[in-house]
This record gives sequence, structure tokens and C-alpha cells, in this order.
Amino acid sequence: MILDTRTLVIVAFGLAVSAAVTFAFSWRFNRDIDALRFWVWAYLLNAVGLALIALNSSGISPWLLLGSNLAVNLAALSLLYGSRSFLGQPLPSRLHSAMLVGATGAMAYFIFADFDYVRRVQIASAYLGVMALLVALAHFRSPRFRASGPVRVMGLLMTMHGLTLIGRFYFFVSQEVTETSLLHISMVQSILFFEACMMIAAVPIACLLMTTERLHENLRRMAMTDDLTGLLNRRAFLDEARRHFARALRQDAPLSVLMIDIDRFKKINDDKGHDAGDAVLAAFADELRGGLRKSDLPCRYGGEEFCVLLPDTDMDGAARLAENLRRRFAAVEVAFDGGMLGATISIGVAEALPAMHMIEEAISQADRALYAAKRAGRDCVIRFEPSEDGAPPSLSYRSRPLTAARSAAP
Ligand code: GH3
Ligand code: MG
Ligand code: MG
Repeated sequence: MILDTRTLVIVAFGLAVSAAVTFAFSWRFNRDIDALRFWVWAYLLNAVGLALIALNSSGISPWLLLGSNLAVNLAALSLLYGSRSFLGQPLPSRLHSAMLVGATGAMAYFIFADFDYVRRVQIASAYLGVMALLVALAHFRSPRFRASGPVRVMGLLMTMHGLTLIGRFYFFVSQEVTETSLLHISMVQSILFFEACMMIAAVPIACLLMTTERLHENLRRMAMTDDLTGLLNRRAFLDEARRHFARALRQDAPLSVLMIDIDRFKKINDDKGHDAGDAVLAAFADELRGGLRKSDLPCRYGGEEFCVLLPDTDMDGAARLAENLRRRFAAVEVAFDGGMLGATISIGVAEALPAMHMIEEAISQADRALYAAKRAGRDCVIRFEPSEDGAPPSLSYRSRPLTAARSAAP
């Protein structure tokens, strides 16, 4: 069945306009995603190019021809800009501008100086095919390619489109072509325009799916992390901690918890202001991140309280790590407002045991040990020792630099 090329051009025009409008709305609501702006331009220019092709159906106006070629070429470049921008890759270079100028210039030559439809189609097919493959390449090279379905779909669509255009180039080079207009009705033309319609419908959907996925990831990250420190928040931490607890039970692996509280933090806020307190919190979070293994799970548990889950770590290992952390943070000086701020921390340590039903039990034991550390004078690490014979559990001192702590405390 041969499809009518003029009808297909008008359908493609409608699809391009609706894609541009959809991208424009999406851009309005997501101003931080620059790619949407490029995609609006890509589909607007495509629509202009298609409109000019349709307008030029009755007679040959060289300026309309050049206008449609230029618009479609610019649309291809905008699509490449959009993909690269979305994927965080450098935007196209001078080489791409040179390709655009070279291809459009050569097309102008075959319109004004030596009218040659076949040559013009060869150049357009080669240029648009290479641009489509460059868009595909941007997606294949992205580190997101493995994890994101929409990125893979987009890479695949643009590869198919690029290969179709290169196939068209090959056809026009290798065959004796008799047609003289893009709107000439033939099997090849109807296949090409049908493919173009499909792409103008499918590519924006893939782009919008990539955008939705990105927004979803951002929301998820925002819901899981604490703004000030970038650490997990309590809810996300507890979800993860429950999973780790179940795994530790299954594999009979040790699992420990640190509960950490900054000492006399209120005084920092009262004396130097809330921003100073925030700077100390951020500095502590940095110290925490720097001093842990990749598999450890730190979180901001509440105001100036932090909790760390230590997989594959028993009580002794956890207490050693806690002591190290305490010492290191005591030496940290936080630059703030021309001065230096310092603070100490108290830490409670507990180990999750097979007899426990929930990780929250170990967290609560670490919390009790933390409060014992506060009572013992702060700036120290105390571990929660479960009793073996059913007697009430005891809290044992792991380190008690009480003299130092008291003299350092404000
Ligand atoms: P202690 O040594 O017993 O832990 O005393 P503290 O002063 O550290 O403890 P307290 O619980 O009395 O005070 C904690 C303060 O932390 C109170 C609260 O205003 C402050 N805080 C909680 N969240 C934030 C925050 O995000 N930024 C700042 N700057 N302060 C916070
Ligand atoms: Mg405190
Ligand atoms: Mg506290």
C-alpha cells in the first residue's frame, strides 16, 4: 500500500506541533531541565520545516525549499543539544556548527546555483542520518544507559532513525532516481514519511519519559535525604536498616549501631547563631562520611543526633570505629564567620543480636548507651553490654576521657 506523502507531511506537522507544545508545558514546570528548551526548539523547527514543505507543494519556490531544509537541519542540531544537555554531556562543538553550515550551504548551492533534487536529498539524508546517530551515541555513552529504560529506548529509536536516513542516502546514491520532489508519491517515499511520523510521535515520548524518570529520582532523593547534611534521613535509614538486619540474621553476620549526639550543641546555637550550628552539623556529616566504609550507613536521625549502621561489624569493631570518630571530630575546627568553631560528640554503641526481633531494639540500646555517655560527662564512647544470664543489661565504658571532656566542654 502506497501512502499519500502530502497527507503524511501534514500528519507529521501536527505531531511536531503537539510535541513542541507538550515540551513547552513541561519546560514551564521544570525550568532547571535545560534540555526541555532545546526539545521545544527541535520540534518547533521541525514543524516549520514540514509546514514549508507542505506550502511548497504547488510550485517550486527556492526560498521555501531552503527555509525548509534549514529548519529541519537546525531541528536535528537542537535535538542533539537537548540529549547532550539532558545527559550532562558537553554541548555540540564548532564541528557540529560547521557540519550544519556545510550541509545547509551545499543544499543552497543545489537549489540556487545548480538545481539538483537528488544531490540535495543525498546531503540532507547524510547530514540528518549522522546527527541522529550522534544523538543515539550520546545515549549509549551515558552512564545512565544501563539503569534507565527510557535512555535505552531513546538510543534505540535514534539508531533506527539514523540507519533509515543513511539507507535513504545509500538508495539515492546507488539507484537511478527519477523523482524530482519530496512530495513525489512512491513506495520509498511513503515508507520514509511514515517512519518520520513514527519518530516524531515516539521520540518526544521517550524524551518525556526520561524527564519523568529524572523528576521521580529527584523526588525520591529529596524524600530520602536530609537537606543540610546530605545524609539519609531517619525514615530512609530505618527502611535500609531493616533490610540489613534481615540480611545479617540470614547470614549470621555481625551488625552494629552507633548513636551519636553533638555535645552542648544548643550552646553553639545560642552563642553563635543557628547558622553556626548548621555549619557544625555539616562539618560533622563530612567527617562521618570520610571515616566510614562504603557499606556503612550513616543518617541524620534527628536535630543534632546521628545514627550509623555498621554491617559486618561486631561490638568491638564498632566501638573502635566510634572512638576513632570521637577523637577525630574533637580535633576538627569549623571555619565560621571569621572564627573557628569546635565541638565534641558522645557515642552509644550496640550490637544487633539474633535474639532481637527488630533493628529498632539495637538502635534503642545504642540510644541508652548514648545517654549514659552524656551522664558520664560527654565526649566519650559507651557500649551497651547485654547480659548473658538474664540479669539487667549493663552499660560499659569504652573510653572515658572525662577530664579532657570536662575541660573542653564550654
Ligand atoms: P547535650 O550535650 O546534652 O546533647 O546538649 P545539647 O545542647 O546538644 O542538646 P539539646 O537537645 O538541649 O539541644 C539540641 C539543639 O539542637 C536544640 C535545637 O534547637 C538544635 N537543633 C536541632 N536541629 C538543628 C538544625 O538543623 N540546625 C541547628 N543549627 N540547630 C538545630
Ligand atoms: Mg546534643
Ligand atoms: Mg540531642
